[in-house]
Amino acid sequence: MKYIPTIGIECHVQLSTKTKLFSEVDNDARGKEPNSCVSPVDYALPGMLPRLNGEAIKFAIRAGKAMNCKINAHSRFDRKHYFYPDSPKGYQITQFYQPIIGAGHVELPSGTKIHIEHAHLEGDAGKLTHFDNYSLVDLNRVDTPLIEIVSMPDIHSAKDAHDYCKELWRLMCFAGVTNGDLYNGNMRFDVNTSIAPEGSDKLGTRTEVKNLNSFRSVERAVEYEIARQTKILEAGEKVVQQTLGWNDATGKTTAQRSKEEAKDYRYMPEPDLPPINLSKEFTEKEAAKLPPMPADYRKKFGNVISGDTLEVLLDYPALMKKLDEVCSEYVKSMSNLFASVLLAEEKSAEYLNDLPSAKDLNELCEMNEKKELSSTATKEVFLRLFDPQMKNRGAKNIAKELGLIQENDLGALEAIIDTVLQKPETKKAQEDYKNGEEKVIGFLVGQVMKESHGKANPSAVQEILRKKLK
Ligand code: MN
Repeated sequence: MKYIPTIGIECHVQLSTKTKLFSEVDNDARGKEPNSCVSPVDYALPGMLPRLNGEAIKFAIRAGKAMNCKINAHSRFDRKHYFYPDSPKGYQITQFYQPIIGAGHVELPSGTKIHIEHAHLEGDAGKLTHFDNYSLVDLNRVDTPLIEIVSMPDIHSAKDAHDYCKELWRLMCFAGVTNGDLYNGNMRFDVNTSIAPEGSDKLGTRTEVKNLNSFRSVERAVEYEIARQTKILEAGEKVVQQTLGWNDATGKTTAQRSKEEAKDYRYMPEPDLPPINLSKEFTEKEAAKLPPMPADYRKKFGNVISGDTLEVLLDYPALMKKLDEVCSEYVKSMSNLFASVLLAEEKSAEYLNDLPSAKDLNELCEMNEKKELSSTATKEVFLRLFDPQMKNRGAKNIAKELGLIQENDLGALEAIIDTVLQKPETKKAQEDYKNGEEKVIGFLVGQVMKESHGKANPSAVQEILRKKLK
């Protein structure tokens, strides 16, 4: 029997607002001491009152628009009760009944559309670090703003699950609402997987794999669950609805808790925060700030840049913006240069933090097009444009300083060639060429390149030599 997998994904995105969701404490705790970015609100001290961060609302509008979602004019917060040492309040402030972001969709590079059920705002929990017989609590992350994006069960393969998560990451990065650092948990994925016999109109029992933080682990966990559930059904047994953890090292999921222990969160409206009422003008003004999205770039550059290259470059929003600033005739060669640096040179994303100016990039492409720079030299100058010591000198000056500009001036080239042809050590080669030994032309071109200190354009040299030796 053939089984069809159905997958739904919940994704938590940490928003990179300046301050936290409900207090004026720094939201960026990178490099800071544990429990140093914490307010009385985060500690849940008696008498504390949360105050909503307006910037988080603006970020949510942009994030929603990036996913083609409806932005709800009215939304509000609820308390989700549970006790855990990383949440001193004893409840999470979230949006259960009326989320700020309504239905929408994300289009994968393949063209498949994944529908979004809704997305809501909520505060993050703190962080526990466990040791042998004790644990440490760090509350720096408490009430970092999150949006939780809930997809419809629209995904039917591990590959699409991977692509969906990656596209979400790109959308959030392009929208500028998160730092997008997956390694540090800026985006976390909970993946629900079930399988049902082909043709069945009912979904199978689902399992949920929690807290995946890479696209690859999402793909592997889904593959594993499909295989595990298929084996269970083929043995005539039943899949148990449960929450699972993923072990990246073993490549297996392990049970965390089953449905019988499911929690009752006792949701209730948050009494300390007023509802959010957004005017049409406010929402439209924020939505208009959304920069071009990956889909816009695919439309714009799809005919110019090869699909594979474009998908590599689309991981870097600043790079795409830069490509958009470069003269349209140079976009193709520029995209190849960037891709070769990212792929072949194995440079990290940080390498692209400080991109060369569009003026320098245009100048570089122009020199290459005029054949003043060979392709090797073009790449060399391109790399120097990232060097803090050199970049301010400009593409043309760098090329000159490195002696990379090719001699294309025919008069000057002829003079150099004549000098070489006068030299006694080239006489024999000239005779051999005239007697039909084609390959000695390489030796002669080499002599001219040497005489020109590598600045002559080899193909032009060869052309002139052939004429002169006729
Ligand atoms: Mn959540």
